[in-house]
Amino acid sequence: MKCTRCDKAEIIIERKHSGQRLCIECFILSIQKKVLKDIRKQKLIEKGDRVAVALSGGKDSVTVLDILNSLYERKIIDLMAITIDEGIQGYRDEAIQIAAKHAQQLGIKHRIVSFKECFNLSLDEIMASDPSRGACTYCGVLRRWIINKTAREMGATKIVTGHNLDDETQSILMNYLEGNIDNLTRIGARTFPASDNFVVKIKPLREIPEKEVGIYVLARNLEAHFAGCPYSRDSFRAEIAQIVKDLSKNHPTIMYSTLRGFDKIKIALKKEYSPGFNLKNCINCGEPSAQKLCRACLFCREIEKHIHRNKFNANY
Ligand code: SF4
Ligand code: ZN
Ligand code: ZN
Repeated sequence: MKCTRCDKAEIIIERKHSGQRLCIECFILSIQKKVLKDIRKQKLIEKGDRVAVALSGGKDSVTVLDILNSLYERKIIDLMAITIDEGIQGYRDEAIQIAAKHAQQLGIKHRIVSFKECFNLSLDEIMASDPSRGACTYCGVLRRWIINKTAREMGATKIVTGHNLDDETQSILMNYLEGNIDNLTRIGARTFPASDNFVVKIKPLREIPEKEVGIYVLARNLEAHFAGCPYSRDSFRAEIAQIVKDLSKNHPTIMYSTLRGFDKIKIALKKEYSPGFNLKNCINCGEPSAQKLCRACLFCREIEKHIHRNKFNANY
């Protein structure tokens, strides 16, 4: 089988959804061009932006960093990276080392910030306290709090996350099935924050399937952390991911159609369900919040209560 673009004999991927077969060079180019085109078309990044990549060291964030580096090298943007250490034993350390290596190789500013230093609790300690929510709920809220605050402190004008097509499809379905309309209105290629203290977040890989991100990393020979988080198996997201994966076997365009359909109804959804609250500052940490206490502080207080209750029960 030949590459449908250059006629070369060895192909690295056959795209079932489009019928394209690509050699390694044409595949790499197609991903880079697609991502940069989406950035231009949707005005995700402008000349002079100071872009902070949420760099976990996994394949998605490593890919987006690699592609954005072409804009950094041409001095179109400034580039920096933020890595969060959630405190997941046996999982996060290697990813942090890989992230640090990438940042060093590109010569960009890099900050590593831990849950422990910000909240005095690691994710492992939170989960050991027998809390009422799943690990990903705590992890997502606390990580977003740190990334926004750190990006603001670093002077970033955009935060880039490595969410791919699979992630985005899962988020749409999860929030729809849970009836979480507020969250649905926030899904998209970029955020439109209601406070200057929230840095705009963008997702340049939103239209790239996870499988292709994996192939890109291998094709470009980029070092990335491939191990799965030990908490991910128990999540609702993992169940939805499996359903979408199964459906995609016979319906290879299903993720694209879910995304396209959602983007069409999103405008109407936003009009109907725009949250009617004014953002204030959290009375505990000062970060923007819809309530007196932001979700991060609320969760920390809940967990502290759990820990005190557990100690009390253990002593009596
Ligand atoms: Fe955090 Fe869940 Fe991701 Fe693990 S899978 S890093 S707990 S959000
Ligand atoms: Zn080719
Ligand atoms: Zn707070």
